Amino acid sequence: MSLIEQLRAQFPFYAAANPCHYLDNAATSQIHQQALAAMAGQEASRANVHRSPYRLAEASTHAYGEARARVARFLNAAANDEVVFTSGATAALNLVAYSVGETLQAGDEVLISAAEHHSNFVPWLRLRERSGIRLRVLPLLPDGRIATASLAELVTERCRLIAITHCSNVTGAVTDVAAVVAAARKVGALVLLDGAQQVQHGPVDVQMLGADFYAFSSHKCFGPTGVGVLWGRQAVLERLPPFMTGGGMVGEVSLESLSFAAPPARFEAGTPPVAQAIGLGAAVDWLMTLPWAEIHQAESALLARLLAGLATFPAVRLIGPADLARRLPIVSFEVRGIHPHDVCQVLGERQVALRGGNHCAQPLFAALNSAGATRASLALYNDAADVDALLAGLEDALKVLS
Ligand code: PLP
Repeated sequence: MSLIEQLRAQFPFYAAANPCHYLDNAATSQIHQQALAAMAGQEASRANVHRSPYRLAEASTHAYGEARARVARFLNAAANDEVVFTSGATAALNLVAYSVGETLQAGDEVLISAAEHHSNFVPWLRLRERSGIRLRVLPLLPDGRIATASLAELVTERCRLIAITHCSNVTGAVTDVAAVVAAARKVGALVLLDGAQQVQHGPVDVQMLGADFYAFSSHKCFGPTGVGVLWGRQAVLERLPPFMTGGGMVGEVSLESLSFAAPPARFEAGTPPVAQAIGLGAAVDWLMTLPWAEIHQAESALLARLLAGLATFPAVRLIGPADLARRLPIVSFEVRGIHPHDVCQVLGERQVALRGGNHCAQPLFAALNSAGATRASLALYNDAADVDALLAGLEDALKVLS
C-alpha cells in the first residue's frame, strides 16, 4: 500500500461509497478515525470535568487533562497549562483581543496584516472602537505575501501586540515569523500567531517560533469540530484578565470580592468541550506519528502539479506566490470573466469540492484588487487523481461558462 492509501484507510470519509475529490481542507479537513473513536468513547460514558469525586467524573477529568498534555506535546509547549481549550481559532483570537485588549490604553498600537482572516481582523477593529487603540496594517506584496520589510516602519514604540497569520488561508503563503518576532522584541510587543492553516501540515514548535500566543482549530487538523486551542506563554497568560466568566474559572467569589483561577482554568469558563478536546488529543497524537518529510514531499509534488496545470489556462490568474518554497498547498485563483461560485458549482457537479468567494478575507482581496477567487486546498490524503479531476473539471467549466 502506498502512503496515501495507508492514510486514506484511516479516514471514515474514504470508506464511504463515493467520496468526492475533497479539496476544501482549508475550510475543514476530514476527521481521523482515532479522533472519532476517542470522542465517541468519551460521550458514551461521560461525566463533567473538574467537579465531582466519583470515579466516572475523575476519569473524565483525567482524560481531559491527558488531551491537554497531548496538545502541549504537539506544540512543544513548555507546560501543559499553557494550553487553553476554546471553541476554535476564532474564539482563541477573540480571547486574546479581549484579554490583552483590556490591558491596553488609547493610543497603544496593534499591528496586523492585510492578509488576515476576518477572525484575526474584526476583533481588532472592535477593540479599536471600544478602546481607541491604533491599528496598523502590514501591506501585501503583489503576489499576496505579507510585506515584512515594512515591519521596521510600522512597529513603533507604542506597538503592544503583533497579531498575524502563520499561513494565509487564501494565498498559502507562510509568514516570515522570525522577522515578526524580532521586530516585536525590539519594542517589547507580544506576538499572536493565527495557526489555523498551519497545523494540518504537521506539528508546530511554539518554543522555536518564539511567539507568545498560538491559535488553531481542531477541525482543520483532522479532529472534531467545536474545539480549538489558544497556546499562551505561561508568564503572559498569568498576567492576563479573563475573557469569558462563569463556573470553573474563579478562585473566591463573594459580593465583595472576586479572584480568578490560574491559567488555563481562568480562560475556560463553563463546561468545556470535553469530548471534542479528547478527540483533538487523539488527532494530534496521530499527527505526531506521521512521516512528515515524506508527506511534505508528496504535498509539494501535488502542489507543483496543480500550479503547472493551472498555468496552462490563459484565463486563470493565481492569487498567491508561485514560489513553492514558502507556501502551503492552498491555491486560490481567478478565472477571467467567471464568478468563483460558478466555477465551484460546475466543479461540484463533477465531484470536486472547492470553495469560492472572498474566503473571510475581504481586506486581502481589496489589497490585491480582486473580487474573489476559487480555492483548492490540499491535505495529506489527496492524490494526483484529485488534482487531475480539478484540472479536467476546470476545462469543462470554461467550456460551459465562457
Ligand atoms: N484563521 C484562519 C487563517 C482561517 O483560515 C480560519 C478559518 O478558515 C480561521 C482563522 C477561523 O477558524 P474557525 O472558523 O475554525 O474558528
